[in-house]
Amino acid sequence: MTARDPIADLRRIAFLLERANEATYRVRAFRSTAAALTALPEGELTDRAAAGTLTELPGVGEVTARCVVESLAGEEPVYLRRLVATEGVDLDAAATALRAALRGDCHTHSDWSDGGSPIEEMALAAVELGHEYVVLTDHSPRLKVARGLTADRLRRQLDHVARVNAELPDGFRILTGIEVDILADGALDQDEDLLARLDVVVGSVHSGLNDEPAKMTRRMITAVTNPHLDILGHCTGRMVSSRPAGVTGPGDRGHRARTRPESRFDAAEVFAACAAHGKAVEINSRPERQDPPKRLIRQALETGCDFAINTDAHAPGQLDWQCFGCVRAALCGVPAERVVNTWPAERLLRWTAGHAAP
Ligand SMILES: [Zn+2]
Ligand SMILES: [Zn+2]
Repeated sequence: MTARDPIADLRRIAFLLERANEATYRVRAFRSTAAALTALPEGELTDRAAAGTLTELPGVGEVTARCVVESLAGEEPVYLRRLVATEGVDLDAAATALRAALRGDCHTHSDWSDGGSPIEEMALAAVELGHEYVVLTDHSPRLKVARGLTADRLRRQLDHVARVNAELPDGFRILTGIEVDILADGALDQDEDLLARLDVVVGSVHSGLNDEPAKMTRRMITAVTNPHLDILGHCTGRMVSSRPAGVTGPGDRGHRARTRPESRFDAAEVFAACAAHGKAVEINSRPERQDPPKRLIRQALETGCDFAINTDAHAPGQLDWQCFGCVRAALCGVPAERVVNTWPAERLLRWTAGHAAP
């Protein structure tokens, strides 16, 4: 293969990162490498690439050096390939179209756990937003700080949801669900028979977020391969900002003012398991979560995963936060067809039921 122009590739990556509104330090890494290479005497670039000494140059890191080596080998750098999906796309239009394609929300909380409002109010807000369905996913028992539902309370909630559904307008319904804790060994924190009864199961890690990477990877894969799990919730657990502006509410643990780094795990393995088992990766729309980060959304997309663009709403107004997730998904080139909550409820339910089939 003939070599590509590594400097042009680096500059292209920097441009696309800026366009995607990525962190400045990340953009600078590519621009400074391009500048360092431009300054090199004839022949030194290929010599250093062959000798593996590119990173000895000031401003050149492991990631950018790998891109250079791939370019010189005549391959489109993997980093660039993950960015070009959105080239030439009107991102505002793409995000708007994605939002318009959504028919529901697969991750919401009520005051049965740590949400601020009754199920009825969440449902009515979802109706007003034009949704065809909303999945009620209150927390599981071990998450005591969030008043996670015991098996008994969840059974009562299912009866209650059936009564509420009977009163709601035609063409809309609450689907039953749970945001079940992924326990330390990857097991799901609720009775099997109940998980089997629910329409949609979102599984999330809420404890042991600092597990060492190999353990976290095993834990997540065990959960993803569990036939009851349908959607992997906020997979890195990161918190990027403090309490969103104007949001208050006692007992709403989603809003505690703090930041938290991403959990470490082998994303390639976890996403491969999601793709192989037909499980969706959640794009969590909460402003303080923005989880997964865009580089992982792109990686999941390339791995063949489906997605769910969810709000994780703890109050009715937060149901409108889906637009934030849509912007991030559009920036990563996620097509509507790959987003499970663009599907009609019947198709969504066939999909989740398919996971439990023998
Ligand atoms: Zn959660
Ligand atoms: Zn949640």
